[in-house]
Amino acid sequence: MEPATGPAARPPTGPTSRIAVLRERATGETRVSATPETVRKLIALGASLAVETGAGLGAAISDGEYLAAGAEVGQAEQVVSGANIVLGVQGPEPERLGGVAPGAWVVAALDPFGRRDRVSAYAAAGLEALAMELMPRITRAQSMDILSSQSNLAGYKAVLVAANLYGRAFPMMMTAAGTVSAAKAFVMGVGVAGLQAIATARRLGAQVSATDVRSATREQILSLGAKPIFVDTAQGIEGEGSGGYAGEISDDYRQAQAELVSAHLAKQDIVITTALIPGRPAPRLISDAQIAAMKPGSVIFDLAAPQGGNVEGCVPDQVVERHGVKILGYANTPAHLPAEASALFARNLFNFVSAFWDKDQGKPVLDEEIGNAIRLTQGGKVIHAQLLG
Ligand code: NAD
Repeated sequence: MEPATGPAARPPTGPTSRIAVLRERATGETRVSATPETVRKLIALGASLAVETGAGLGAAISDGEYLAAGAEVGQAEQVVSGANIVLGVQGPEPERLGGVAPGAWVVAALDPFGRRDRVSAYAAAGLEALAMELMPRITRAQSMDILSSQSNLAGYKAVLVAANLYGRAFPMMMTAAGTVSAAKAFVMGVGVAGLQAIATARRLGAQVSATDVRSATREQILSLGAKPIFVDTAQGIEGEGSGGYAGEISDDYRQAQAELVSAHLAKQDIVITTALIPGRPAPRLISDAQIAAMKPGSVIFDLAAPQGGNVEGCVPDQVVERHGVKILGYANTPAHLPAEASALFARNLFNFVSAFWDKDQGKPVLDEEIGNAIRLTQGGKVIHAQLLG
């Protein structure tokens, strides 16, 4: 059967790349790595696009919309056949990539440390695997940063879900029947997700406070109208932290932070935890003993649940009740906002491909700084420094 081709497709004139977009197969994944908007933009660059049937359904995008944007739409084997670039939200299983062009790129969030086995399989298949979550945090790569675009949405969703689980209202309300007091929300970890969580909780009318180990976040918390809760007796991480990330903190700091936070937690109604340390399991921020000291009816949403969780007892995708406190964390929070998360993820991938597009070669060519940061495999071998040794 001939694959269907949309009206906007035009035959490429010079050398060109065939870009394949597969339907995501991971459990609970609703996102898609290209939208009709980015399909049009990639075709305008000079690429040809092939999208698997049903790839956009989780994000409410029909096959017809991809066709109208100029993509070929077909079954998985057809779509990957001869592809030079395979886009994904999560990494596709290597056995699905049998028909791709030699040395094809696989561009997705590849979970290189969690799925080391799959990285080896990409190498063995002669693929060039590019892990988008390892994009360096430099100014020119900001528009390609999937962690930021997805964390921002996740921070927003976390607050909405917590608000929904909470048996009371967020804002202060003065009614003829009496006054409802404002909920107290506490955000632990003020990176991209935490900042959006603070802003969202404020918009809903909660009294918001927040903490982080990086001192640069104190000003950011204040600028969003929330109260910073910081340890003053021990040294945390000065300024932004290297690359904007939190490294290891001292035991003294950890102890002082735990004491300060314990007293504060006991007064909270809503807690959103977002703390991550790149390349390591999420730090434990809330113990069972601290939960026991919280008010019954309080809600904790743990955004670090997929990385092991910040909260003791958190089980991904389950509402766990401990000491009267509800604890929830999704295994994949951005997947709960599929349309928006896909739109931003797809733009991140388009910005990446277009930034490196070489017109004469009809394909993207990476520079050293970004190439070395994200390239996991090349020439049949695993080559990324963090995966070797
Ligand atoms: P992240 O997801 O790595 O971690 C979330 C937050 O948890 C961080 O603020 C971290 O300091 C904090 N944290 C870690 N351990 C903690 C602990 N024990 N207690 C409390 N908090 C703890 O962070 P992120 O969202 O990736 O953002 C990190 C920073 O990088 C932000 O300042 C962000 O603005 C910056 N950033 C820069 C760029 C760029 O320049 N291209 C892109 C994205 C983010």
